[in-house]
Amino acid sequence: MTNHTAAVTGAPAAQQPEWPDPDALRAVADDLSGRPALVRAEDCDRLREQLAAVARGEALLLQGGDCAETLAEAGPATTSGKYRTLALMAAVISEAADLPVVRLGRIAGQFAKPRSSGTETRDGVELPSYRGDMVNGPAFTAADRTPDPDRLRQVYRASADTLAQLGELSVQGGEFWTSHEALVLEYERALTRETPAGRYALSGHLLWIGERTRQLDGAHVEFASQVRNPVAVKLGPTSTTDDALRLIDRLDPDREPGRLTFISRMGARAVRDTLPDLVAKVAASGAEVVWICDPMHGNTVSSPSGHKTRRLDDVLDEIRGFLEVHRSLGTHPGGVHLELTGDHVTECVGGTYEIRPEDLPTRYETTCDPRLNLGQALDVAFELAAMYAV
Ligand code: PEP
Ligand code: MN
Repeated sequence: MTNHTAAVTGAPAAQQPEWPDPDALRAVADDLSGRPALVRAEDCDRLREQLAAVARGEALLLQGGDCAETLAEAGPATTSGKYRTLALMAAVISEAADLPVVRLGRIAGQFAKPRSSGTETRDGVELPSYRGDMVNGPAFTAADRTPDPDRLRQVYRASADTLAQLGELSVQGGEFWTSHEALVLEYERALTRETPAGRYALSGHLLWIGERTRQLDGAHVEFASQVRNPVAVKLGPTSTTDDALRLIDRLDPDREPGRLTFISRMGARAVRDTLPDLVAKVAASGAEVVWICDPMHGNTVSSPSGHKTRRLDDVLDEIRGFLEVHRSLGTHPGGVHLELTGDHVTECVGGTYEIRPEDLPTRYETTCDPRLNLGQALDVAFELAAMYAV
């Protein structure tokens, strides 16, 4: 395998950090491009084949993990917590649906975040926004918030460790794949490799493009169009059918089942109105994409205590709406994309072991969006089992 950096053209790249020292960034990127790839191209192909089965309606996809992994929390305990949560959920859903469930972590690379504003102001002090541990630190200090390219190296090492930990667990429980948002293009390009089978982004098995970076003429879509991995795109409530059809043309010109997944994140209130036309027009175009539901990002609210939270009832309602839309159109609801952890955090509200708004401060640990805890994740799994039961 030879090292290769994907072609860099003039397409504008949204949501990139303002690195203070471009030479230092280049040196780190050069260093990473000479290091071993994190995943194998053959495994990306294998995941693509499994996603083709999801596209055909013969399997389901369960994708989940932290909103943002952190260097401080990375380690065997958090890795196995997330792995076991997903493994339990997949077993419950698979048994009820009588279909294989493809298990895909938001893990081993999910260290970068898009932000609605480039800066944050507190008490009259303005600093760069926290963009994930790949870029800067969460503390509201100039030292933490200044983008530091050495962090690319740190998250590469942490991701390699996480993959090694997963390798040991997976040995026990079957195949498990990794994914993250392909956001910081220097990192993704540095881990792109030319292989005999073509060019692959080998920082993870599947990479997705977020709602804020899916511009058709933007650098993220261009980057994804140049690699052979399975790729996904988030589609929020403002997505038009034209957006979806043009994304298919850019990212899946050969109409290869399993290559492209659409992650709909409409919000519980909008999903029944906004999704039908998109799904119907995509189906009519003949493209065999995977459709999954992210019931988290359209349902974020602020609690009275000021915590960013999500109500489990809204999460379940969006999933229900997603399934209703697909069933009324005769298309396959391919699965879900969740933010979750194996820990007993108190970040989302509701569930069998009910977390109330006043409980949120007890264990609110996310550096970004609120995650389902283990109990809430299992609640979702049992609801999915009921919805998919044959
Ligand atoms: C995310 O997945 O954490 C995220 C930022 O999602 P979206 O791109 O859908 O807003
Ligand atoms: Mn998130």
